[in-house]
Amino acid sequence: MAFLSELFDFRLFLIAAFIFLPLERLFAARKDQKVLRRDWANDLIYVFVNGIVIRLGLVLIVLLTLAASRVAVPTDLREAVAGQPLWLQLAQVFLLADLGFYLLHRLFHSVPALWRIHQIHHSIEEMDWLAAARVHPIDQILTKGASLLPCFALGFSEWAIGAFAIAYHWHSLLLHSNIRLSFGPLNRLIASPDFHRWHHCRDKEAWDRNFAGQLSLWDHVFGTAFMPKGRTAESFGIGEAVPAGYPAQLLHPFRRREAASTEQKVHADNLSALG
Ligand SMILES: [Zn+2]
Ligand SMILES: [Zn+2]
Repeated sequence: MAFLSELFDFRLFLIAAFIFLPLERLFAARKDQKVLRRDWANDLIYVFVNGIVIRLGLVLIVLLTLAASRVAVPTDLREAVAGQPLWLQLAQVFLLADLGFYLLHRLFHSVPALWRIHQIHHSIEEMDWLAAARVHPIDQILTKGASLLPCFALGFSEWAIGAFAIAYHWHSLLLHSNIRLSFGPLNRLIASPDFHRWHHCRDKEAWDRNFAGQLSLWDHVFGTAFMPKGRTAESFGIGEAVPAGYPAQLLHPFRRREAASTEQKVHADNLSALG
């Protein structure tokens, strides 16, 4: 489980800054965006405080899953899974983990109580690598749980799961970065920053699309992919106010609900149309 603590290491944060800050200058998707853009200090709090909360939450649920899966999942199956070559386990973990992420992410967009939690992430109005951290801890724990728990329960090697978790972390920073990058024909398989920017786009036609965290393949399989040719997502965020500051954002999903805004109702209609 050492990889879990490594994910939130301060040195990793500095390495990420050294990698992404120059790349965002060289290949900026939005050239007029400042390094110290709006809410950057708040997103820094997410990096450090969320890291601790999520680590504790994840360790607890992974331990519970391991205990439960020893009873619920047949030993023969766990042994067969663990007996496969590492490269095959790795491919299976990527597919299974991102399917879990896709399904739960879609649920976060379709269940109003979950959307209130996920709104915090969608309040990002200027995309960059640091903004990837702006995720409510409950959102992080549940989506990471949906990705990782089936893999732990089925007995995949900790090496394969650890490699996935590290790749997911760096890929997530890349997806949110202010870098213009698309993967050409591989767009149908792997999520790119251009792909994820559409997920955050304010335009109604892009709402509730591109749910995959790593493999855009799942959006193509389930008919939720949106990558219009020759166009790029320009404006980000949601149509309603999310309070400023980490403590208020943490409490936001649990505050008494005001009447839903028109934009939120349209959002819900879009989802029911999607099925
Ligand atoms: Zn989302
Ligand atoms: Zn995002």
